[in-house]
Order: sequence, then C-alpha cells, then structure tokens
Amino acid sequence: LDLRERPDQRRFRADLRAWLGEHVPRSPLPPLSTVDGVRAHVAWERRLTAAGYTGVHWPLEYGGQGKDAVTSAIFEEEYARAGAPERANVVGLRLVGPALMAYGTDPQRHRHLPAILGCDELWSQGFSEPEAGSDLAAVRTRASRDGDHLVVTGEKIWTTLGVHADWILALVRTGSGERRHDGLTLLLVDMRTEGVERRPIVQVNADAGFAQITFNEVRVPEDQVVGSVGQGWTVAMHVLTVERGAGTVSHAWLEQDLRATIALARERGRLEEPLVRRELALLRVQVQRYRFSNLRALCLTDHGIDPGPEASINKLLWSETRKRIYRLGAELRGEDGLLDAQGPEDSEWQRQYWYSRAATIYGGSSQIQKNIIAERLLGLPR
Ligand SMILES: Cc1cc2nc3c(=O)[nH]c(=O)nc-3n(C[C@H](O)[C@H](O)[C@H](O)COP(=O)(O)OP(=O)(O)OC[C@H]3O[C@@H](n4cnc5c(N)ncnc54)[C@H](O)[C@@H]3O)c2cc1C
Repeated sequence: LDLRERPDQRRFRADLRAWLGEHVPRSPLPPLSTVDGVRAHVAWERRLTAAGYTGVHWPLEYGGQGKDAVTSAIFEEEYARAGAPERANVVGLRLVGPALMAYGTDPQRHRHLPAILGCDELWSQGFSEPEAGSDLAAVRTRASRDGDHLVVTGEKIWTTLGVHADWILALVRTGSGERRHDGLTLLLVDMRTEGVERRPIVQVNADAGFAQITFNEVRVPEDQVVGSVGQGWTVAMHVLTVERGAGTVSHAWLEQDLRATIALARERGRLEEPLVRRELALLRVQVQRYRFSNLRALCLTDHGIDPGPEASINKLLWSETRKRIYRLGAELRGEDGLLDAQGPEDSEWQRQYWYSRAATIYGGSSQIQKNIIAERLLGLPR
C-alpha cells in the first residue's frame, strides 16, 4: 500500500475540488425516494457526466475515464468532502456495471454501460425475496424457457429505488431446487415489460423509493442473461463482493459523518465530557482502520488481485462504524435524539440515524460477514 499520490492523481484531485466547489448545489436536492428528487439527481448526474467525472474507473470504450481504482477513490474522497448529492444510479454504477464488465456480453456492455453512466437507465437489484435474504440460494422466483425467451414468475422484496428504476438485475431459478446454487441465473429485466408490478414500501426513515416487485409471466429475451444460464450464483457472489468491498463506500463519507458528530458535541457543550471524548477517539481509530482497509483493497484491485472474501472485513468495518457514529449522534442530541430512536421526523440527523441502522443489513448482514470471515478467511469450521 503506497499512500503517496502521483502527480496526475494530485492534478485530478485539484481540478475536481475546484469543479465541485463551483458546481455542487448550495441547498440539498429533494430526496431520491421522490419523483422530483429523482429528476433533480438525474440532472445533477448529467452535469457530472458532461464534466467527465463519472465512471472514473470504467474503460474509455464504455464512456468511462479509464483511470485506476485509487484515482476513483480520490474522486469519492473529494465528492464526499464537497457534500455533493447522493448518487442517483448507485446500483447501476456500483453493482450492475462491474457485473457486466466481468460477465456481460459485448452487446450488453455497449447497450447498458453508457446508459448507466449517462443516467438514461436507472437500475435496481432484485436479489432478496420474502423467503430468501441471508440464505440467498433459497431464491424461488422461477424462469422457464419458452423459445428464445425466459418467462419469469415470482416476487422480489426490499428493492432499493424499485419504484423508480427502469431496469432490474434479477436473480432467478432456472434449474431444479436440489442443487440450489447451480440452478440460478441472473437476468437484466426491463421494468416496463408487461407483467412487472411494483408496490412501494415506506422505510422507517420515511423514504418511499423502496419496493416489492412481482413478476407475472414476464418475458425476458435470452440475450439478457448475464453470464450463462445456471451461472447466476457465481455472478451474484461477484456482485455482492463488489457491493461489500473496495471503494463502494468511501472512507471520506465516514470522515464526514464523524466531523459532523464532533461539531454536534461542540454545539451541545458535550465535547469535554470524558465518555464522549473516549467514544469520539475510538470512532476516529475505526474510521482510520476503514480508510487503510479500503485503500489496501483498492491497491489490490489496481494490481489485478481480487480481494475476494476480504470484502467482508470492509463491509463490517464501514457499516458498524457508521451505525456507532449515528448512535453517538442520537445520544448527543438528547431529547431530540430520543425522537430519532422513535420514528421518522423531518431532520437529516434522523434520516441518517435510521439509514445507518440499515447499513448492517443490506449487502449481507453483519452476522453473515462474520460467518464469511470466520469460515473463508480464518478457516474456522462451519
Ligand atoms: C435499506 C435496505 C436496502 C436493501 N436493498 C436491497 C436491494 O436493493 N436489493 C435486494 O435484493 N435486497 C435489498 N435489501 C435486502 C437485504 O439484502 C436483506 O435484508 C439482507 O440480506 C438480510 O436478509 P433478510 O432481511 O431476509 O433477513 P434474514 O436473512 O431473515 O435474517 C434475519 C436475521 O438473522 C440473521 N441470520 C440469518 N442467517 C444467519 C446465519 N447463517 N448466521 C448468523 N445469523 C444469521 C441475520 O443476520 C439477521 O439478523 C435491502 C435491505 C435494506 C435494509
């Protein structure tokens, strides 16, 4: 791990900082869970694209900037520091794009990758089902062949952006249930196809972009299979490793959260309390640990080494640290913080408090990450 920046990386950082300083909207955009919010975030994404600041680490031929993973981490650091808007197409950028680069066909890449970067296609991830979350291989949504189509029937749940998305990356069962992992396939499904229904789910933080998706005999052309029929488990594990691993959540976001919490402690006159100082110091150490872990994973990626199950260490570190930062924030807010713990109110602290609690669930819960670390990294028995 070499923490020194090359001259081109320093230049990239300086140019980006200047651009963000000039262009980041002065007041927050409406939440992404609303139609107005989606519109405003997409417009922002298009400005980023026009300025050449999206897809930093993606190949040039698909509209990316063709830079290394560490430069892409510099982008994330500056983006977080500038307090720039949440990314609209996070599932497309962070999960679907990398999956297509690793397993997609050329026509799939040329069709979808530039559309993801330009925000012409908003994506969602359809893995979880009412009976399949941590035990993802229990997926029951079925796809049967009919000529050159697969016909999909079943139900997905907890789909982030599911209300607004144009496309969904759906994990479906194409084989028999006996060899659970072999019988799965990943499909790119156009959400406007006949038979796709979406039911909004309001989250505890009052966001309403979440959805339950029903597929009623939805016909998907077979050229929309990612990888091959029966290879879904391998591709899905690749997607989850990317979701948990390097660069997905920048250490800069945690640094930002921690800075805001220190400011809150100062504002509430609590900064000199020994217990508060101790917790802030511990959190500072955790944030630094995550920074090094994240940069290490990014350097491995730049050397062509897949961090594999080590991604679970990253996921555990960022999600547990974020949750702990916002728990301290709720305590510091005193009576206002009690409201944080009781229900949604119109406050960014409350929104983030609740969302921090989701971080140890989505992308695989903390218990599942601990199982992976124990079994696959430490070699402990199942
Ligand atoms: C905000 C948010 C956004 C999400 N977005 C998406 C999305 O876009 N697409 C998508 O497909 N899914 C999404 N999810 C779903 C998420 O991936 C699942 O909630 C998660 O994998 C857990 O599955 P589950 O809810 O079925 O809980 P369960 O699997 O039923 O787990 C319940 C509890 O049991 C524990 N547990 C389960 N199995 C084990 C085990 N073997 N060992 C130890 N403990 C265990 C879990 O840790 C958990 O605490 C999202 C979830 C949230 C909260």
